[in-house]
Amino acid sequence: MPIIAVSTNKGGVLKTSITTNLAGALCEKHKVLIIDTDNQGNVLVSFGVNPDNVELTLYDVLVDGIDPAKALINVHSNIDVLPANDDMSFLEFDVLSDRENYPDPFRMLEKSMQTLESRYDYILIDSPPNLGLVQGNVLSYADSVLVPFQPEGYSMRSLIKILNAIQNFKEKHNPKLNILGVVATLVDQRTTLHSEVLQQCRRYCLENDIRMFETVIPRSVRFAASVAYERKPATLTDSKNPLVQAYFDLLKEIEE
Ligand code: ADP
Ligand code: MG
Repeated sequence: MPIIAVSTNKGGVLKTSITTNLAGALCEKHKVLIIDTDNQGNVLVSFGVNPDNVELTLYDVLVDGIDPAKALINVHSNIDVLPANDDMSFLEFDVLSDRENYPDPFRMLEKSMQTLESRYDYILIDSPPNLGLVQGNVLSYADSVLVPFQPEGYSMRSLIKILNAIQNFKEKHNPKLNILGVVATLVDQRTTLHSEVLQQCRRYCLENDIRMFETVIPRSVRFAASVAYERKPATLTDSKNPLVQAYFDLLKEIEE
């Protein structure tokens, strides 16, 4: 059972969109769990559910040892969400100020998932846009990490830093962690800057033995807005939009 985290230290680069759309693409054949670890709670929002109205979240699972099965929300056939909301923003403070009760702060997610994970074919983890206690838990539990990359003027520098940080984390905390690959997002192929930065990125990945997916996720503001209105990820609508195709292509590459 693959446990795939979608992680990087940036916001607005499609972490949540990739997580939820991959789930949408997988659910026809597989039973999928999405673990939302970001206090913005956008995974539920993507499925039209208000995260502020849920009783139990990942926070209660991690901090109070609640059975994660009790917090699950079924959002679609074959897709369950272990939700997050603003409570997650207290996790770091609560845990780090009470090391007696939380002696192994990076391993909390891994431990709490033991009873639940065997029910699923895939576990996808959406993560916050920074490197802290939450990300440490995500990268300690995942067996692979998908890194979204938005090509912009200075973005290569920061991509290299995050890839190195993940590599270091792997060596210190989770030897089974594998960088599944880098996927370019919000790409406008007509923009020269984008194609130049994408080329740089492909070269860097090739030289450093890191996979970069052929598939890129195109920028498509109008379609993204119309999907938000449908209250479900694009891959669960019956649209033939190129953006939907991109997510199915990405999944195909992942499953190769
Ligand atoms: P993150 O989780 O990394 O912060 P999101 O997945 O929430 O990023 O996406 C950021 C914003 O971009 C959201 O408002 C989303 O609706 C919008 N968006 C999603 N897909 C696209 C796309 N293909 N093109 C343009 N905007 C998009
Ligand atoms: Mg997000």
